[in-house]
Amino acid sequence: MSFLSEKLSRIQPSPTIAVTQMARDLKAAGRDVIGLGAGEPDFDTPDHIKVAAKLAIDRGDTKYTSVEGTPSLKEAICSKFSRENGIKYETDQVIVGTGGKQIIYNAMMATLDAGDEVIIPRPYWVSYPDIVLLAGGKPVLVETSLSNGFKLRAKDLEDAITDRTKWVILNSPGNPSGAAYTKSEMTALTDIIKQYQRVWILADDIYEHLLYDGQEFVTPGVVAPSLLDRVLTMNGVSKAYAMTGWRIGYGGGPIPLIRAMAKLQGQSTSNPSSISQAAAVEALNGPQEFLNGWRTSFTERRNLVVNMLNEVDGISCPLPQGAFYVFPSCAGLIGRKVSDGKALETDTDVVTYFLERAGVAVVQGTAFGLAPHFRVSYAASTKNLEEACRRIRTACEELS
Ligand code: GLU
Repeated sequence: MSFLSEKLSRIQPSPTIAVTQMARDLKAAGRDVIGLGAGEPDFDTPDHIKVAAKLAIDRGDTKYTSVEGTPSLKEAICSKFSRENGIKYETDQVIVGTGGKQIIYNAMMATLDAGDEVIIPRPYWVSYPDIVLLAGGKPVLVETSLSNGFKLRAKDLEDAITDRTKWVILNSPGNPSGAAYTKSEMTALTDIIKQYQRVWILADDIYEHLLYDGQEFVTPGVVAPSLLDRVLTMNGVSKAYAMTGWRIGYGGGPIPLIRAMAKLQGQSTSNPSSISQAAAVEALNGPQEFLNGWRTSFTERRNLVVNMLNEVDGISCPLPQGAFYVFPSCAGLIGRKVSDGKALETDTDVVTYFLERAGVAVVQGTAFGLAPHFRVSYAASTKNLEEACRRIRTACEELS
């Protein structure tokens, strides 16, 4: 009998975290590695947000807070939902967690029983299926295609719904493909879900502010307000405000669900860091103008990486609409041989080759459920992105 639980055996270590750690370790060991694995902005947390955290420490905001978040952060979250999305949540309809990941985890743990199904469009963020599995549910992975911009089609969604479907996870702009749904595409999906009373939507809006080329952000609770009694709208400050390490995510939804999530959180981590919560209040209530400048930088970096990767023979890189990832196909590299005569057989071989030969850390598409692809985070300096793409190109030219 194993000391470790059966539930642990259902999941894998997070591949995005594994690649990031590997790059960190190699750098610490003196290797010249450009890490484009992690999904985190390279910008520093803005000063006004840091000042708010320092003031919180000096004020003595260093004690437990309510499990589901401080009143001031919950009010800031309600204002954000109202101001930016037009969704009216009351403070008892929101909960703050230690990162967006905990919000998803709480929601799944609080609602799934053995055999309950969760529809997840593929490619997906690495942790969705594993969180569902850990909670005892069954991930139902639904194909999307490049020709449809990696977006779920209404018919494919409907075909995947069964009597056991409890949730559909929608992530727009999406990780890893950057796919962003238009209003009509999102409405087509919510129209289907309206017909199935038992099905809830988890809207992962963490990349809301990272949307390019003038595309409008849409979320299920806005296009289908009548569904709000079965939508959990998840968001956080990590990606938008360069606050990944502060670990603040939040969700808005119906009171019974929020209470259930708070009950679970109260028996696990309790409140998220009181200091981080104070910083998040400032992030949400403070100036927002700087986000336009960041968006412009991300747009330029996206264009640079897409153009440079498309010049590499064997790589084909679509132009994503949002988030800060590109998700190229490396089908053209499969079968090519490295110097010792060994062929690259999978996208995992390709990314291992990029790391070893080019010193560039990216994540294999297999981790996101779609191969042969790889994900590049372009939340890095232009200099590093140019150098990484040049190195990838050279490494690919060395293949035979
Ligand atoms: N969500 C980010 C990513 O996909 C952060 C790492 C993680 O939690 O997966 O890289």
